[in-house]
Amino acid sequence: MVIHKAFRFKLKPTREQEPQFWRYAGASRWVWNELLAYRQQVYGETGQAPSLKEQMARLTVLKGEADTTWLREIHSQVLQEPLKHLADAFGRFFKGISGFPNFKSKRRTTPSFSYPQSVQVHENQVYLPKIGWVRFRKSREVVGLIKRATVSHKASGWYVSILCEVEVADPALPHIAHETTVGIDLGLIDFLTPSEGEPIPAPRLLRRLEKKLAQAQRALARCQRGSTRYQKQARKVARLHERVANARRDFLHKLSSALVAENQGIFAEDLSVKGLARTRLAKSVHDAGWGEFLRQLEYKCAWQGKLFHQVDRFFPSSKLHWEQADSTPCGHLNTLSLSDRVFVCQGCGELVGRDRNAARNIKRQGLFDVLAAGQTDSLNARGLEIRPVSAGALE
Ligand SMILES: [Zn+2]
Repeated sequence: MVIHKAFRFKLKPTREQEPQFWRYAGASRWVWNELLAYRQQVYGETGQAPSLKEQMARLTVLKGEADTTWLREIHSQVLQEPLKHLADAFGRFFKGISGFPNFKSKRRTTPSFSYPQSVQVHENQVYLPKIGWVRFRKSREVVGLIKRATVSHKASGWYVSILCEVEVADPALPHIAHETTVGIDLGLIDFLTPSEGEPIPAPRLLRRLEKKLAQAQRALARCQRGSTRYQKQARKVARLHERVANARRDFLHKLSSALVAENQGIFAEDLSVKGLARTRLAKSVHDAGWGEFLRQLEYKCAWQGKLFHQVDRFFPSSKLHWEQADSTPCGHLNTLSLSDRVFVCQGCGELVGRDRNAARNIKRQGLFDVLAAGQTDSLNARGLEIRPVSAGALE
């Protein structure tokens, strides 16, 4: 089995290299915008998008023009990468995953450029063709075959992200049973509530940084646009943004790794089930990093040969009371509002913790789905009684 691993390091460019980084990033953005415009023009005229070959030809024409001679000092593969990114962006658009690809403005785009190959790593230096060897702060060993390297600029400097292909042994099938799996409910107050064990809140450091960021953003809104104070405040916001992103990434990675290490299978909800995508909560859902967290669980489970499964989007995990104090199923479908953290079951009168109840329902449904799909026979062997929570319980 081949898996992909990403390594990210802080670069230490020399005084000669940094202006080159800016030129490379600028050229990548320029190619993206030019080719997006070209694509739209051809589409407008013919009703069909130009092929990758036609776009390559267009790029060659652009490089030959008198006022674009500066393009020739950029490595040709770096200039071709935006074409692939553009094709990917349109692919995601047609699948309904993201919006129509936008032009990249200088102000609002992270400056970056990519190499598809020919990048080498030797000790604490990375070789970027045509730029040369660039030193970086080495925090871990790079393993595998380098497939792509992206250099990008953040508030605290330049970073390189190296994507590698690694060959690993096919993992054994996981042993899926009640005791070896966990259901998780993601929330805004407690980040994660498991079906068994303590809820996990977002770390205090992260919450404190988020609060600071919000304050800094409000202060920025009060500043006169373009003034010195505005620029100073904008830099402060950018730095805080990065610190929040780092703290969140760190938290999500540690939590997802621990969860995958401790369980053979993880069941979660399809995020659209939360029905929050189009409400005022959408921003906090995005900021909470749920999507990223589930993505990490999915690939970490895949790496380790464990099961990750998301239960159906229309499954009423928080409203359905699944277990009474004496462990007998209740199955009453309650009506409750989003703000109810605890509710009294209208069926049996028991006090139910919303998140814990949801996590247990998710686990129960997940185990049922797996059993129904015949993905494992260990469930049968254990004689677990798993019934679907959908059909009968849903009115
Ligand atoms: Zn009940």
